[in-house]
Amino acid sequence: MKLSGKTAIITGASSGIGEATAKTLAAQGVKVVLAARRGDRLEELKKAIEKDGGAALVVETDVTERAAVKNLVKQAKDAFGPVDILVNNAGLMPLSYMKNLHVDEWMTMVDVNIKGVLLCLAEVLPDMTERKQGHIINISSVAGREVMPGSAVYSATKFAVRALSDGLRKELAPKYGIRVTCIEPGAVETELLDTITDDELRTDFKDSFGNVEFLDKQDIANAIHYAVSQPDGVHVNELQVRPTSQG
Ligand code: NDP
Repeated sequence: MKLSGKTAIITGASSGIGEATAKTLAAQGVKVVLAARRGDRLEELKKAIEKDGGAALVVETDVTERAAVKNLVKQAKDAFGPVDILVNNAGLMPLSYMKNLHVDEWMTMVDVNIKGVLLCLAEVLPDMTERKQGHIINISSVAGREVMPGSAVYSATKFAVRALSDGLRKELAPKYGIRVTCIEPGAVETELLDTITDDELRTDFKDSFGNVEFLDKQDIANAIHYAVSQPDGVHVNELQVRPTSQG
């Protein structure tokens, strides 16, 4: 499958899995549109990609704001043409025990991890259905299959991403040739744990994950690259990738 010349939007490209994915796809000749809130980080990434001969566009975006997401897709199309690949990666994981009532964090997770995914989908689907092509990559999690104490709300958002992926695939793949891949990473070394503010949970998390050797963000970028580089007739629906030591 030739990726060169395609256009991809990657949300949450300012760090972690999104950043590694942007670099990986750009190295294959994909024109990458870098979206997140931290514009300075995106500009640094754009420079690094261009230095290596790739093409990148920065669009500072909060995926919870509909107007911002509309602007993201418009700018992507104006600069690079219709969007071939959407990587719905932006997410937060402020794990906490329900009893500790981190209610604002529950709401933020729903806003970013579910509503953000929906808003991005809404902006790319019209062109994809009209062109009868496109690939949507949704980043769920192992926590989208298994719930641990403290992961209830995060898991609920990632179960939702898996449900959305399943529904999208069944609706869009046979009729429109649009592929949908749900990626379910295990523990990956990124800035994601920095969003945890529940001290009790943080201590317990360290105890239970102390012996786990976290994956590198590149391991997940590789999984995404594998999914998008298959021939049109090959549809990779789900990929669960976790550290061997995670069990
Ligand atoms: P990072 O914290 O490194 O990256 C998260 C990204 O999401 C950042 O680029 C951040 O950018 C962006 N983001 C957060 N809120 C918003 C928002 N409102 N609008 C736009 N962008 C936003 O973590 P990861 O790379 O690990 O996380 C990427 C995805 O992978 C997430 O969906 C996460 O749930 C999932 N995942 C991660 C695992 C792990 O162990 N690391 C395991 C399983 C799944 P900015 O702050 O600049 O807006």
